[in-house]
Amino acid sequence: MGIIVQKFGGSSLSSGKRTKKAVERVIETKKAGHSVVVVVSAMGREGDPYATDTLINLVNSPKDTDSRELDLLLNCGEIISAVVFSQHLKNEGYESVALTGAQAGIITDESFNEARILKVNPERVLNHLKNGKIVVVSGFQGITEKGDLTTLGRGGSDTTAAALGVALNADLVEIFTDVDGVKTADPNIVKDAKTLKVATYDEICELARQGAKVIHQRAVELIRQKNIPLKIRSTFTDDPGTLVTHSNGNGAEVEIKNDRLITGITYMRDLSQIVIKSNKGECLTKSQLIIFKAMAKSHISIDFISISPCEIKFTVNEKDLKKVKKVIEDLSLSAEITKDCAMVSVVGANIRGIPGIMARIVEGLVEKGIQILQTTDSYTSIWVLVKKQDMAEALNAIHEKFELC
Ligand code: ADP
Ligand code: MG
Repeated sequence: MGIIVQKFGGSSLSSGKRTKKAVERVIETKKAGHSVVVVVSAMGREGDPYATDTLINLVNSPKDTDSRELDLLLNCGEIISAVVFSQHLKNEGYESVALTGAQAGIITDESFNEARILKVNPERVLNHLKNGKIVVVSGFQGITEKGDLTTLGRGGSDTTAAALGVALNADLVEIFTDVDGVKTADPNIVKDAKTLKVATYDEICELARQGAKVIHQRAVELIRQKNIPLKIRSTFTDDPGTLVTHSNGNGAEVEIKNDRLITGITYMRDLSQIVIKSNKGECLTKSQLIIFKAMAKSHISIDFISISPCEIKFTVNEKDLKKVKKVIEDLSLSAEITKDCAMVSVVGANIRGIPGIMARIVEGLVEKGIQILQTTDSYTSIWVLVKKQDMAEALNAIHEKFELC
């Protein structure tokens, strides 16, 4: 039998009882005859002693901390977690070995705090598997060619699991978390969101890109390259979860029908809308290029861009607002700024051009008296900008309109 990679997020490791469930999952898989590679995140969430956010809070000002040293600090969370997990397996009588990301052969670039995996050298992991051991790898981390430890950014353990899955040519990568799978919306906000039983890589990639944090977009992109089946499921329930695949290859006995119009609805918070209007009715044509170049020069990422001759609208993350104001001031322009906005995205393959979709979205929002600040679309998503306080109601209204429940 082949290799299965099983990743457990912080929410699955936040208490002894939860970790026990995770350990049971691994043992079940080993007993079924598979070689198992476990990828673990740091234990728990902010406030828990060794969670990533707790470690970040150990330094007074994370933003001003040397990024290489911050990564040294953050590596500790997953290393502790891997050793603890491996020890649990040993206590249950299973041979196991804990490895750091570096020891597992994860080589990254030098973008500390947000490093990208360049390659994986799976030799050491394979040798341990050959010797019958369960290999427990610290997620979210790697090492540069020069030997500095790095971290992969938010959702990085998903990426570690995917990269190992690809490098080891695994039969399956399983992402275990605290919900039953990928749902039609975040179940914390839309209570009756439904678990997607099967989905394509493209669908899940798009949901992740638009904010569904249940899996990281980069993980899906990696795994898609080799068509390795991916399952997202709960550590704590027996629900089969969401199977992500292209087709019924690689032993996954499911055929995907691409006839679903809407896959799900996602959101992103903490946005501000910027509207730059021309002075005295002149056209902004000349200023357009200057504005966008100045934003890029200040490393400000902008979205939701809408350009007309006398008006430019876009959104920025609230953390960049100070920089944006400075750019606008330096260009002697004036802007209307609406803070506390959120973007709601309706995600589905090929929704552009299908008549009536926008009408249903608008109808759903208008019925609830929700103000639409801006909309835009692509082939796979329609985005609506609303006030943050309306976001939850907007998600529920649209979810209901498309009868996703
Ligand atoms: P982990 O600690 O396992 O990595 P995360 O917190 O990163 O867990 O991801 C799981 C969470 O993702 C869920 O608790 C849920 O609130 C959130 N989530 C957001 N959108 C979705 C969605 N469409 N389907 C399922 N979960 C979602
Ligand atoms: Mg996660």
